[in-house]
Amino acid sequence: MRFSYHTHTRYCDGKATAAEMAAAAAAAGYSYLGFTSHAPLPFRTSWNMAWEDLGAYASEVRAAAAAWRGRGLTVFLGLEIDYIAASAAGAAPVAWPGAAAYDRIAPDFRLGSVHFITGMADDEFTVDEPAGDFERHVAGLGGDAKAVWAQYYRNLSAMVDRGGFDILGHFDLVKKNNAGSRWFDESGADYLAAAFEAVDFAAERDCIAEINPGGIARGKIAEVYPSAPILRRMREAGLRLTLGDDAHAPEHLGAYQGAAIAAAAAAGYRSLWYMDAPGSWKEIGIDEL
Ligand SMILES: [Zn+2]
Ligand SMILES: [Zn+2]
Repeated sequence: MRFSYHTHTRYCDGKATAAEMAAAAAAAGYSYLGFTSHAPLPFRTSWNMAWEDLGAYASEVRAAAAAWRGRGLTVFLGLEIDYIAASAAGAAPVAWPGAAAYDRIAPDFRLGSVHFITGMADDEFTVDEPAGDFERHVAGLGGDAKAVWAQYYRNLSAMVDRGGFDILGHFDLVKKNNAGSRWFDESGADYLAAAFEAVDFAAERDCIAEINPGGIARGKIAEVYPSAPILRRMREAGLRLTLGDDAHAPEHLGAYQGAAIAAAAAAGYRSLWYMDAPGSWKEIGIDEL
């Protein structure tokens, strides 16, 4: 069985319509497909949906769901929602997955993601931004990329603490610009301690995290999110996993599921979890995928 709960559309930075993505998923043998265009934020970006498009996005995904109902593919309406920490200590976050502003489309599920590192530079700083922007931002921090991953994992734990999401997105996205250990050592004890602390916290809160091959699809890195040591820690902590392609184009659907499943198996996972209805999660053996 194939499934993924991380699918973008042209309403954000995806390249295709919901209908085109659903058709590609059906052709690739998917049983469940969740749409997660980047949700609107309190400020505009080139990759987040605009507030005024939220209703049209929901209608397009619901139409795709109706078109495939009874034909082997169940389509869910979701959003990939940012957690953005406040720059002042103690203040409410700038954005968070459980925000009531997203209730108006009654999403079937919410994918909670950290992209933004805030309060560290004078302009928008996301860990998955283009390499040149990342380099400029790290230079602004005196060249110390440790501050980036430390803040990233703090934000991730803060998102988990606040909750309001169904799936935890691309757990170690902070490595996207770190091919060849360009900025930091992902096997370093201090890096892994920060990541493992977030893993243990997510396991305590009984989160479901995704295995996400989006960095491979974009040609940025050679491995899935999360990396092998983090996946092993997740297995030891009992954190449940699902699959999220992070597909931005039809050709991404199904292309990297083998790598994601192999990474879970290599970390000792014997089963993954899939959602067959909003809020309803089922376990499936890795041999059945
Ligand atoms: Zn993302
Ligand atoms: Zn995404």
